[in-house]
Amino acid sequence: MSLYQAPVDDMQFVLFDVFKAPKFWQGNAKLAQLIDCETAAAIIEESAKITATTIAPNSREADEQGVKFDNGVVTTPQSYKQSYNIIAEGGWTGLTGDSQAGGMGMPKSLGVMFDEMLCSADLSFSLYVGLTSAAALTLSSHGSDELKTTYLSNLYSGQWSGTMCLTESHAGTDLGLIHTKATPNDDGSYNLTGTKIFITAGEHDLTENIIHLVLAKLPDAPAGTRGISLFLVPKFHVDEQGSLGERNNVSCGSVEHKMGIHASATCVMNFDGAKGYMIGEPNRGLACMFTMMNYERLSMGSQGLGCAERSYQNALAYAKDRLQGKGLGSKNEKADSIMVHADVRRMLLNMKSLIEAGRAFNTYVAINLDKAAYADNDDDKQNFGAMAAMLTPIAKAFVTDMGLDICVTGQQIFGGHGYIREWGQEQLVRDVRISQIYEGTNGIQALDLIGRKVMGDKGKTATALFDEIDAFIKSFGEEDVSQGLSGMLGEKVIMMRIVTDMLIEKIMNRPDDAGGASVEYLHMMGYLLYGYMWLKIIKAAHEKDEGLYENKMKTAEFYFFKVMCTMHSLKRSVLAGSRMLYLHDVDGF
Ligand SMILES: Cc1cc2nc3c(=O)[nH]c(=O)nc-3n(C[C@H](O)[C@H](O)[C@H](O)COP(=O)(O)OP(=O)(O)OC[C@H]3O[C@@H](n4cnc5c(N)ncnc54)[C@H](O)[C@@H]3O)c2cc1C
Repeated sequence: MSLYQAPVDDMQFVLFDVFKAPKFWQGNAKLAQLIDCETAAAIIEESAKITATTIAPNSREADEQGVKFDNGVVTTPQSYKQSYNIIAEGGWTGLTGDSQAGGMGMPKSLGVMFDEMLCSADLSFSLYVGLTSAAALTLSSHGSDELKTTYLSNLYSGQWSGTMCLTESHAGTDLGLIHTKATPNDDGSYNLTGTKIFITAGEHDLTENIIHLVLAKLPDAPAGTRGISLFLVPKFHVDEQGSLGERNNVSCGSVEHKMGIHASATCVMNFDGAKGYMIGEPNRGLACMFTMMNYERLSMGSQGLGCAERSYQNALAYAKDRLQGKGLGSKNEKADSIMVHADVRRMLLNMKSLIEAGRAFNTYVAINLDKAAYADNDDDKQNFGAMAAMLTPIAKAFVTDMGLDICVTGQQIFGGHGYIREWGQEQLVRDVRISQIYEGTNGIQALDLIGRKVMGDKGKTATALFDEIDAFIKSFGEEDVSQGLSGMLGEKVIMMRIVTDMLIEKIMNRPDDAGGASVEYLHMMGYLLYGYMWLKIIKAAHEKDEGLYENKMKTAEFYFFKVMCTMHSLKRSVLAGSRMLYLHDVDGF
């Protein structure tokens, strides 16, 4: 696997110049005490150093070693223990955790930079860290004070790790079907019985305890998703002093053999009357779990982006080096580097334009999350919260869909050398693929966007987004530093407004039109938002530095003329409706 260097300059440019995050931090009483521009810059530089020197160099070997399963014991690749200790000792597992409970209290907008770097360095390794942060967030948001006191600081410190146990063999997307039962004990605890499958980091040798967050049903629970509760089940019991006791009745039955992320332990977990503690209210577990899943869904965007960035770095270095064929008018006697070929340039620019916009977009979603989390009035909390909620399925699905496309393109640039293991491009394709599937498939994200987020408030948040983009376009004025691109984006906003209104009306008349158009609609939104990000990038670059502005303008032009035009064909597909999806009966397939 080739080496990786985090794009520190671009990350700092996005955070500090495009979104002017330090201004927001300084204006917020709580954040101002925790973070400023210098601290954020130092954190980005330090995480760049750790990911480049400690984690990325081992990712190929870790993929080849994979995880080993022997009689319930799971062993991770050789390098992982040391890497994990470095991450834990540096406090990185608690980077965005509650500062009152041992976390570092950093905003999510900074957290996404770390997430991206970790995913670029080694997607499998990142999952052990990411799930721990997400479990801690759920506990901190919904757990009782007693549970928080016992478990939270050890999760933030990385001494213990976390999991999320939802899926069962017959219940994936439809969690209302789960069978795992929780029966109450006299002391207020519960006994959990059932089998969960596909549990990431369910068992491993990196931490001394594993804290499972498990969905289960109480004996008298209503049917379906309204009858699901959430429980904390430790691998080892913890006594009142916080010391580890006996092993709980939870064990790993096997690990899955899979297409990618070979070094991530994907486990079958058996709960045989395991003792657990309820988090939140009875039958309200899914709502609590959504805290974790929403956080995780933006992290999925970081997975797509992280793998894409590494694929681009590899492909660019290779393209500069690889001599094949000659460019038009070449004076070279033998061959030119493949950088001279238009198709190779097309592929590289496709990657570059989607990655830089994707980085800005993930940050934009995180900024909205931060503005909701740290709002000092109800209106801001509501409006930024609704915006973040609408953008989250786009960050999950669009950024990971682009992530796979970009990694495949990066593999293509290597020709046959991309298909063999040596260069690491095929690993990125295998690894990134899962990000489109777990945490709710991308098809389900698209339904969430159109159903809950757009139709759910009758288009109010979508309209607020279109208005925000229009207002930004207007700010370019007569001396348009985007050189006309702002006008092109304005046309796309009009297109999105029309398509959104027409789609809402179509769905009212024919509900199947939601499912028939949802993925294409989500992609239209994604391309529009990436265009919006490009305008923000151009404006910030123009204010900062001439060379940077010229570079960004060149990539933006490619995006606007060669990529964003996809919206036209997507529009046709969205408005075609779903009638033709149901012309065949099942035997006709
Ligand atoms: C490597 C790996 C790691 C994982 N880690 C975890 C983990 O840590 N914890 C955990 O709990 N789970 C985990 N999962 C499970 C993962 O979240 C599920 O696989 C995923 O949510 C999809 O569920 P499913 O596989 O049962 O597919 P299904 O739900 O059976 O879906 C099959 C297909 O039907 C579509 N579909 C289903 N319902 C609908 C609908 N209503 N409308 C439209 N389309 C629909 C889906 O989009 C999909 O294309 C992991 C899975 C893998 C492979």
